Amino acid sequence: MANVLVFTEVHDGRVKPVTLEILGRLHGQTADVAVFGDLDAGQVAELAKHGAQSVHKLKGAGLEKYSPEGYANALSEFIKSKNYDYVFGGATSMGKDMLPRLATKFDAGLASDVVNFTFDGGVFAGTRPLFAGKCLAKVEVTGPKPHFISVRPNALGMSPNPTAGSGSAADVAVSAGDIRATIKEIIKATSTKVDLTEANIIVTGGRAMKNAENFQILDQLADVIGATVGASRAAVDSGFAPHAMQVGQTGKTVAPSLYIACGVSGAIQHLAGMRTSKVIVAINSDPDAPIFTKADYGIVGDLFQIVPIMTEEFKKLLGK
Ligand SMILES: Cc1cc2nc3c(=O)[nH]c(=O)nc-3n(C[C@H](O)[C@H](O)[C@H](O)COP(=O)(O)OP(=O)(O)OC[C@H]3O[C@@H](n4cnc5c(N)ncnc54)[C@H](O)[C@@H]3O)c2cc1C
Repeated sequence: MANVLVFTEVHDGRVKPVTLEILGRLHGQTADVAVFGDLDAGQVAELAKHGAQSVHKLKGAGLEKYSPEGYANALSEFIKSKNYDYVFGGATSMGKDMLPRLATKFDAGLASDVVNFTFDGGVFAGTRPLFAGKCLAKVEVTGPKPHFISVRPNALGMSPNPTAGSGSAADVAVSAGDIRATIKEIIKATSTKVDLTEANIIVTGGRAMKNAENFQILDQLADVIGATVGASRAAVDSGFAPHAMQVGQTGKTVAPSLYIACGVSGAIQHLAGMRTSKVIVAINSDPDAPIFTKADYGIVGDLFQIVPIMTEEFKKLLGK
């Protein structure tokens, strides 16, 4: 049995779902959770339901907002005071930034962007995509412990841990240490939609959208089915959508349950960001578009005709 710490992030008062995905897979191990700041009783109870034993709420001056150095310093101080074999976190923007910093502090190995893992006799073995998702590599971590693992959001899916944890929660005083760079302000995107990397359904527009105004038809479909809207790099470079919406090698990596690609050709760099989606639907006027080789369902036709029809049909189906 391994001793595991799961680092969690709280976004808009919600524990990031990737934490619950990880906890669900840690059945048979001892799993604690660490968070910066506070969690209310309901949030702690939810973590416990998914198997969390102790919830450590790390607090200290300079740690109110994310600080790359401060968080890594404080977490390493906390981890050194315990005896963890593994430290998990989401392969989110923060996780991708912080976990490598943390691993270097322990001179320890990091398995990043893992999409699946098992524990056999308390030993981690994982899978992660390589070469823009063209193949999957099996990864093990050797060397000094703890070993660090980042997990791609939405990749594991929710599988509630059959054994609930005790969910005891306590404050832990930590120090941010020497911070050379301070984040003064975080300006949030105006969108109220779920972040692309965590969205369960994504509707993406490509160059074929022609302009920013036309993205409204994707917004309308997204509103009905509870999706977040993404864009290809061609659409972003053409000024139809902001870079925050870009899916792909130089954009965001997503793994939703349903990915609807509208007027996207399916270039390798785009596929790199979305090929682990569970179900892919492609709408493209060119029957030979490469996206169809990866799509579970393909619709050959004009997206400007098909998307509004889909919106109306979903409205009827969902009673909206
Ligand atoms: C280093 C590097 C990094 C990159 N990173 C990324 C990345 O992160 N993300 C990314 O997306 N790309 C990335 N690219 C760019 C990538 O190679 C492609 O150029 C890009 O993905 C193409 O975008 P697109 O599919 O929207 O446009 P296009 O390739 O122009 O495809 C448009 C598609 O729309 C179809 N179409 C046209 N009109 C309609 C209509 N009315 N109805 C339905 N279908 C229609 C066409 O048949 C075509 O298949 C990167 C490239 C490089 C070199």
